[in-house]
Amino acid sequence: MTNRLFDLTGKVAIITGGNGGIGLGMARGLADAGAAVVIVGRNRTKSVAAADGIAKAGGKAVAIEADVTDRNAVKTAVARTADQFGRLDILVNNAGINIRKPPQDLAADEWNAVISTNLTSAFLCSQAAHAAMKTTGGGKIINIGSMMSIFGASFAPAYAASKGGIVQFTRSCACAWAADNIQVNAILPGWIDTELTQRARQEVDGLHGKVLARTPAARWGVSADFAGIAVFLSSAASDFVTGTAIPVDGGFSISG
Ligand code: NDP
Repeated sequence: MTNRLFDLTGKVAIITGGNGGIGLGMARGLADAGAAVVIVGRNRTKSVAAADGIAKAGGKAVAIEADVTDRNAVKTAVARTADQFGRLDILVNNAGINIRKPPQDLAADEWNAVISTNLTSAFLCSQAAHAAMKTTGGGKIINIGSMMSIFGASFAPAYAASKGGIVQFTRSCACAWAADNIQVNAILPGWIDTELTQRARQEVDGLHGKVLARTPAARWGVSADFAGIAVFLSSAASDFVTGTAIPVDGGFSISG
C-alpha cells in the first residue's frame, strides 16, 4: 500500500532549474520514485550533467535548454516533453534568482528580472502544462516559494514580492484546476545551502550565524531534504492536498 501511494512509475515530470540546488534534489527524488524527469534550465552543460547523473544512478532523465521567462521557449519545452514521453504528469516550478538590494536602490529592470524569473515563469509553465495534464486525466504542480513568502526582507523586495505572489498563484490554480484533477501546492524552503545562498552569505553580513541561531534543527538545509516532499506532492499520497504552502525549513518559520 505504502509503495503504491508514493510510486511514480510511468509518470513524467518537468523540473525547472533542475540542474542544481533544490531543483536537483527534487529531480533525484522523483527519479528514484520511478518518474522520468526533464531538467529545464539555461545552462545546457549543467543540465546535461544533472540528467546524466540521474541516469547513472538508474533513473530516466533528459535535459531541455530553455529560459523560463520566454513564453515560446516554455511552450516548446512542454511540447518536446509530451512528444518524447507521450504525457506530462508533474511540473515543478523551481527556477529562481535573487537580486539583493534595498527597495530604494533596486532598478526597474532588476525588479522585472526577478518577478519574471520567479513568478511569471510559474504562470507560463503552468499554463503550458495544463492542457497536457488535462488530457491524461490530471496532474500535480509544485511551486517553490520561500520564507519570504511569509516574512519581509529589507534586502530582497522583488524576491519577497515574487515569493508572496507564488503562494496566491498556487491557491488560484488549485481552485481553478481542481475540477481537472490537478493538485497545485507550494513548498516554502528555509535556508538551504545552494549556489543562490552561497552568494547571500557573502552579501548579507552575519547571515550564516543568524540562520543557525534561529533554525531549531540547527543546520542549513541541503538539496536532498527536498526529495521526500517532492515525491509526496507528486504522488497519489497527496491527491486530497491542494492549495497548500508547506514549509521545509527545519522549523525556521515557527521559531520565535
Ligand atoms: P540555484 O541558484 O542553485 O538554482 C537556481 C536554478 O534556477 C538553476 O538551476 C538555474 O539554472 C535556474 N534558472 C534561473 N533562471 C532561469 C531561467 N530564466 N530559465 C531557466 N532556469 C533558470 O538556487 P536554489 O536551488 O537555491 O533555488 C531554487 C529555488 O528555490 C528558487 O526558486 C529559489 O528562490 C528557491 N529558494 C531557495 C532557498 C535557498 O535557501 N537556497 C530558500 C527559499 C527558496 P540555469 O542557470 O541553468 O538557467
